[in-house]
Amino acid sequence: MRDFSNDHRWLSLNTATVRKQGDFAQIVDACARHGIRAIDPWRDQVAAIGLDRAVKVVRDAGLDLSGYCRGGMFTADDAHRQAARDDNRRAVDEAKALGASCIVLVVGGLPQYSRPGSAPSKNIGVAHAQVEDGIAELLDYAKQASMPLAIEPLHPAYAADRACVNTMRQALDICDRLDPSRSGAVGVALDVYHVWWDFELLTQIERAGKNRLLAFHVCDWLVPTKDILNDRGMMGDGVIDIKSVRAAVEAQGFAGYSEIEIFSDDWWGRPMDDVIRTCIERHRTVV
Ligand code: ZN
Repeated sequence: MRDFSNDHRWLSLNTATVRKQGDFAQIVDACARHGIRAIDPWRDQVAAIGLDRAVKVVRDAGLDLSGYCRGGMFTADDAHRQAARDDNRRAVDEAKALGASCIVLVVGGLPQYSRPGSAPSKNIGVAHAQVEDGIAELLDYAKQASMPLAIEPLHPAYAADRACVNTMRQALDICDRLDPSRSGAVGVALDVYHVWWDFELLTQIERAGKNRLLAFHVCDWLVPTKDILNDRGMMGDGVIDIKSVRAAVEAQGFAGYSEIEIFSDDWWGRPMDDVIRTCIERHRTVV
């Protein structure tokens, strides 16, 4: 397991962590100030300054991209599925232009919540089928762009409105069906926030192997959690044994960035440099 205590060369900042404190260019500037080598941008932040300028900003700063957030939301009624398909292809193109190592997929929950305007449905089984169909279709496109798809299982609390893929096992089952040769074209983004509680986590990490472990996201689970979306904790402030999960991932050969992704009204309310300084300190001590 790599020693993170002396430097933060393997820290990547998911730009949502400081999304309220500055625009994309300001976040990249802050990363340069703090010696951060990698980021994972969100599409809306890139769109806000324009893709061309975002590409230039990333290149000028010499940043790696540990991922691109996000594609997915495959669940919709027929009237909205074409739009979803087109939008996902654009996301792949943007990821390619920015030089991302993978595109993170949040797959969608029940159709009416994932694609507003879609017909109401309580059929989670249909949602599961649409997700797999959607990933399969996008995979053809993404392979041509050599852009790996990283399925991110989300905590089951999000099954209705964000993602009906909720465990590593479920995500890896999809990977096995769509890419039985383990080509690396599809894998998982393991976010400790979403999967720390899973009694199968360690065995599923072994099952994934290096080939399917495309991204590693960290934050912490606060007790109590006041808001399931926007009350994620700074690493070390909650109950997740992050080092154990990282050890398991690295035992499979994962050697990529440890990406900090914190959605938090608390941390969004603090100055960007303070947040980043704390991220670096915790990366060294508890990640
Ligand atoms: Zn994540």
